[in-house]
Amino acid sequence: MSFINRRRFLGRTLVTGAAGLIASSAIAAAPAPATKAKPAHPAKPKRQIVALDPGHGGKDPGAIGARGTYEKWITIAMAQEVARKLEATGRYDVLLTRHEDVFIPLPDRVRLARAGNAALFVSLHADSIANHNIRGFSVYTLSDEASDDFAAALAKKENAADRIGGVDFSRHPKEVRSILMDLMHRETANNSTMMAETVVSTLHGPFEPLEHTHRQANFAVLRAPDIPSVLVEMGFLSNIDDEKLLNQPKFQAKLSDRLSTAIDGYFRPA
Ligand SMILES: [Zn+2]
Repeated sequence: MSFINRRRFLGRTLVTGAAGLIASSAIAAAPAPATKAKPAHPAKPKRQIVALDPGHGGKDPGAIGARGTYEKWITIAMAQEVARKLEATGRYDVLLTRHEDVFIPLPDRVRLARAGNAALFVSLHADSIANHNIRGFSVYTLSDEASDDFAAALAKKENAADRIGGVDFSRHPKEVRSILMDLMHRETANNSTMMAETVVSTLHGPFEPLEHTHRQANFAVLRAPDIPSVLVEMGFLSNIDDEKLLNQPKFQAKLSDRLSTAIDGYFRPA
């Protein structure tokens, strides 16, 4: 944990430095402000925006369970439950990438989260595999290789290179731009890892984990360059026991409790 914290701290420091650089050049260009009166009341703490992404939908059912459960039914039920619990804390505004049984292309889900200024992206799924004995939850982050490929592809596009994560880099020389982008990607990757580890430790115990619970893969929904993103496979619909549990309201309530606790734990580490 201390290693991850250190990396996260390092990422924060570096990116704060990059943001400071942008902010200071913006200030230099702006006219000197008139003397400001201090606000009478301290500002209300800002709510964090969390993007929850119920996997699949519409013409795409996702995995189909041994007893006929569609993955898209489980993911929307769980996302709505987690959203309700997060919003009940008063600390979060939740942005759902879909509210009903509709098909949303994967890049659109990422675009929605970025347009809504989400600080975290959590995609919910239930897995399926040929070996029906395999069960348990797992958490995915984008693989380093995929991140590098994606960063390289992004960097190739001039527009993307100028404007990443809502920050306009175009005023900076090319070399500075690439350093700033690299710092942003590293910060996102470190925080995604932090979130994945938080999910694993929060769910471990009441829920059966898949071995090597935190995994990496090249999922399209995890590719926001500036939003820490994880994909949670809540179990295997190809396993009869997992399928039965994922359909139980009691199990869904318990799992959504833990998922919302994990998200809260990411923003407010102990
Ligand atoms: Zn899925």
